Amino acid sequence: EAPKSGGVAAAALAAALAAVEAHERELGRLDAVAGDGDHGRGMVRGLSAAVAAARSADTVSITDTGDTADTAGRALLLAGTALADAAGGASGALYGLLLTEIGGVLLEAGPAPVTTELLAPAVDAAFHAVRELGGGAVGEKTMLDALAPFSETLSEHARDGTPLADAWPLAAAAATTAARATADMPAKRGRAARLGERGQGHADPGATSLALMVTAVADVLNG
Ligand code: ADP
Ligand code: MG
Ligand code: MG
Repeated sequence: EAPKSGGVAAAALAAALAAVEAHERELGRLDAVAGDGDHGRGMVRGLSAAVAAARSADTVSITDTGDTADTAGRALLLAGTALADAAGGASGALYGLLLTEIGGVLLEAGPAPVTTELLAPAVDAAFHAVRELGGGAVGEKTMLDALAPFSETLSEHARDGTPLADAWPLAAAAATTAARATADMPAKRGRAARLGERGQGHADPGATSLALMVTAVADVLNG
């Protein structure tokens, strides 16, 4: 089999890009409620750069058993840096860090299979890094409100040994439910905070994009 350019990381990012492209206007509209309206455009720009970077990362041959944690990690490190550079804005820096954190943990794992047990602590580390960089907390109507339940659900299923192809979609479903629930929250972080409660009734764009992306990645992991 011919090497798949960028392996599972590039495929996952390409799926995330397709989902964000399909919802670019909706994300922009959500961001325009209390922000500057650029979230859809920024994510498309950032993820396009991330996909290109992940594809360029692949120099080793990938077998039909899938690529290993270190290969995926290297691709994600390049992708996260490219995303942050290309997307700009608060979410560019935060999403870029999310990818580089996961990439760093995977790279350290070496030529191991990418499992729920490996990814759950990587996503948890990314959650903590994003929370620290943003200076925020769960419950403030940001991407953290989708990322936290995503990470927690993945960790629960790592503990009971659920395969990634089953665990990831369950975590994505938790993120989707949580992203929708941000519509009931007043904004406390980012540009939206300056406008007080104006965003109430509308979901947070960052939480929404996170849910869209992890849902799209679930299809990739299911083969
Ligand atoms: P910008 O606000 O710079 O225009 P975007 O519109 O691309 O960036 O992204 C806005 C999203 O970024 C918000 O909906 C929110 O989810 C997320 N965000 C912004 N600031 C923070 C923060 N400090 N912590 C966590 N998430 C944040
Ligand atoms: Mg914006
Ligand atoms: Mg902006």
